[in-house]
Amino acid sequence: MAVLGSHIPLDDLNTQDAEALLKWAADTYGERAGIVTSFQTTGCVTIDLAARAGLNLRVLTIDTLRLPPETYEVIEAVERRYGIRVERFQPDPERLRRMVEQHGEYLFFDSKPKQEYCCSIRKVEPNGRALATLDLWITGLRRDQSSFRKEVPKATVVNQGGREIVKLSPLADWGEQGIWDHIRANDVPYNRLYDQGYTSIGCVICTTPTRSGEDKRAGRWRWFNQAGEDKKECGIHIGGSGI
Ligand code: SF4
Repeated sequence: MAVLGSHIPLDDLNTQDAEALLKWAADTYGERAGIVTSFQTTGCVTIDLAARAGLNLRVLTIDTLRLPPETYEVIEAVERRYGIRVERFQPDPERLRRMVEQHGEYLFFDSKPKQEYCCSIRKVEPNGRALATLDLWITGLRRDQSSFRKEVPKATVVNQGGREIVKLSPLADWGEQGIWDHIRANDVPYNRLYDQGYTSIGCVICTTPTRSGEDKRAGRWRWFNQAGEDKKECGIHIGGSGI
């Protein structure tokens, strides 16, 4: 069986800049390529770079139904600014109902496995449905976001739902300063929670502001900071996902 990775010029792609990667994605994959974003700063800059280059890339997001109002506001601001429609993927209603019935709304406080279960229902499963519509997945992962992400490649091939797809992180080598410089210079819409000390934004309650010197994702699930529970990932970017 042919292996997708053998046909993708990964070595070359990993040396290219963000604009070149986005152009390659749009030219090569068209409607089967998409920016999947939770509207962190990097995702907003990625959408802006694509729009500036005139690229018609789809934008997809996972609406966990527990996002802060500021996140819904930035989604709408992006739609207005770029004249696009963001495709929203929500949890399966029946699975969500069963989870809440069995474990309650706030199961994520109980244990790491229950937090991961909640993330699997609200994020990972809808993310899988979103990725089923793509052969090329564009993410906003950056190497400076956490120790867990420090070696993220710009281009890789990952197994997603039993098939191989290309995963790009075009801004993997950008730093925090460069992201904010781009946002300010180009008046890019961004989540206003960044003005309140947040450095990574997910669901309400599970996300808190960070302190100086902490990892960007340290505010996620802050009650799990004991040894062995400090992996600040929800499951979307681990396992067979290439980091
Ligand atoms: Fe559930 Fe919290 Fe994960 Fe959101 S971040 S899916 S509320 S555990």
